[in-house]
Amino acid sequence: MNIVLLAGGVGGAKLAQGLAALLPPEQLTIIVNTGDDFTHLGLPISPDLDTVMYTLAGIANRETGWGRADESWRTISEVTRLGGPDWFRLGDLDLATHLTRAHVLQNGGHLTQATQQLCQHFGVRCPILPMSNQPASTLVETEEGVLPFQTWFVQKRWQPAVKRIILPENAQASRSVILALQKADLILIAPSNPYVSINPILNVYPVRESLADAPGAVVAVTPIIAGEAVKGPAAKMMAEMGIPVTQESIVLFYEGLIDGFVFDERDQGALDHLDIPQLCTQTWMQTDEDRRRLAQEVLTFAQSLL
Ligand code: GDP
Repeated sequence: MNIVLLAGGVGGAKLAQGLAALLPPEQLTIIVNTGDDFTHLGLPISPDLDTVMYTLAGIANRETGWGRADESWRTISEVTRLGGPDWFRLGDLDLATHLTRAHVLQNGGHLTQATQQLCQHFGVRCPILPMSNQPASTLVETEEGVLPFQTWFVQKRWQPAVKRIILPENAQASRSVILALQKADLILIAPSNPYVSINPILNVYPVRESLADAPGAVVAVTPIIAGEAVKGPAAKMMAEMGIPVTQESIVLFYEGLIDGFVFDERDQGALDHLDIPQLCTQTWMQTDEDRRRLAQEVLTFAQSLL
């Protein structure tokens, strides 16, 4: 069985960890959003790739949802003291990741190779693939104008109201991503933000087409529980874009792509009127055991759709 997970950062990493605990590494491939990537202090930063990688390596900071555990901040504090920007925090250990990635890219390697090298050294055995080797930056059109993703998300703490998300045209998936999708028996969409984590992946050609035509089963897990996001701006931006913050909205967003939908027991009954195979269960992953249990339930449900 070949399983592919489409993932953003926090929500993606949690389900990825649950799946990685259950599956042999050769059966699981994680395709990660790079629409949030940007250059900061001259370094290439890939927030979602690193969140997934650090989580699978067991060295993620679980409180923040980004960066490494047991981190120190001497370098960025000194950068700030010297008049550099302080709004995007990079820990001392985390900086080593960005420096190594920069080194690979500056020597002609691409992002997939840089990620592979980092994963190998962090002991992560299942492939983590950036959705593309080319820059494919997400922009956010807000009441304050069009902002680069990290300016809106981190610098402005996702406060400017969102009008729409702008994704690049002509973004291309890497060869490894195309191959992984071709071989997939099950494609899972993590409980990540549909608009700024999953849609940037779907927007990369030919990911959306691969899901629509997938011979296997495609299953999405909701990031919304009882009208709220577990973390981050998903619910707020839905409301601002005029989308009801409901399970039905998420199902409609993935219409034509998914064969089944997993949502939370707190929304029981919310999709009774829809003719889509559904699994209603506890989807809030607070512990490692929650991650494993949800991953197992999602796998069993997806397999039942084959
Ligand atoms: P980001 O790129 O770090 O913002 O990460 P993601 O897009 O992967 O994750 C953010 C989304 O994950 C938010 O919409 C959260 O509501 C959702 N999320 C986070 N943790 C959980 C969880 O334990 N269960 C569910 N169902 N959703 C979650």
